[in-house]
Amino acid sequence: MILIDGKKIQEEMIIELREEVSKLKTIPNLTIIQVGNYGPSNKYVAQKIKVGTSIGIDVNHINFDDNISEEEVINKIEELNNDKNVNGIMVQLPLPNHLNEDRIVNAVSHKKDVDGLTTTNIGNLFDGKNAYTPCTALGVMELFKRYNIPLKGKHAVILGRSKLVGKPLIACLLNENATVTVCHSKTENLSDITRSADILIVAIGKKYFVKSDMVKDNAVVIDVGINVEDGKIYGDVDFESVKDKVSHLTPVPNGVGRMTVISLMKNVIKAYLEQSK
Ligand code: NAP
Repeated sequence: MILIDGKKIQEEMIIELREEVSKLKTIPNLTIIQVGNYGPSNKYVAQKIKVGTSIGIDVNHINFDDNISEEEVINKIEELNNDKNVNGIMVQLPLPNHLNEDRIVNAVSHKKDVDGLTTTNIGNLFDGKNAYTPCTALGVMELFKRYNIPLKGKHAVILGRSKLVGKPLIACLLNENATVTVCHSKTENLSDITRSADILIVAIGKKYFVKSDMVKDNAVVIDVGINVEDGKIYGDVDFESVKDKVSHLTPVPNGVGRMTVISLMKNVIKAYLEQSK
């Protein structure tokens, strides 16, 4: 079994992107909008600032009070949309309940939508047009590329249909000519489907859900899951159970989780280059 080493790839990409940024005429800017002080969001924002800064990107963090109105957030986003010095804008999710997430996310100009979550962007992605791929899906695709895993004609099965991970992966894999099946909580005979996968991507948020009887011999298995129990992180795939059966496997931690933030930075550089044209 080949271990897909997200940590190693992330470190390689940091060096590559730092080099790329150093050659640009000006410094790319990413602006993160956060509302409130939700613990996990604080942690994710801190990671984005750390990784972005380490490759030479200017990361601006706007942290609104919990009780800010929707109009105020949208006004700020519109101001940032029109600010030539801002290349990428992302709204840290989740937002407090009184704010309409869909309306706020879609206020971001699709040209600066480095998280890839606006409806316009998702449409472009599914249409095979130039688009910003949502960061975790982009990270998964990068792993396939770096490990020379062929996708054309292969049966790729995605477990999970979230807007952040499962759905964008449908478009990404189709764009690479894979044959794609998507499963979710209502799927019947799930194991029969997963056992037919050449490539199995699991993003459901259930610790050790996938065991060896659910995977085909020599399948490529990508574990997106992050399940925290007593401060420890567990994947959606039971690593020990499947490791001797598959051809490639991502660990948790140090697998896909390492790819999401660096992929965001890739999108920021892409936005900078598109806006410089
Ligand atoms: P989500 O929004 O919670 O969606 C979960 C999906 O899994 C849904 O489509 C759900 O089906 C499906 N599902 C749940 N139980 C299932 C079952 N027993 N059998 C088949 N499908 C089932 O999930 P998400 O945001 O995509 O996150 C999924 C996991 O990935 C979580 O552990 C999350 O922490 C992790 N994650 C990791 C990263 C990273 O950077 N590595 C990024 C994002 C998420 P229904 O649609 O029918 O409800």
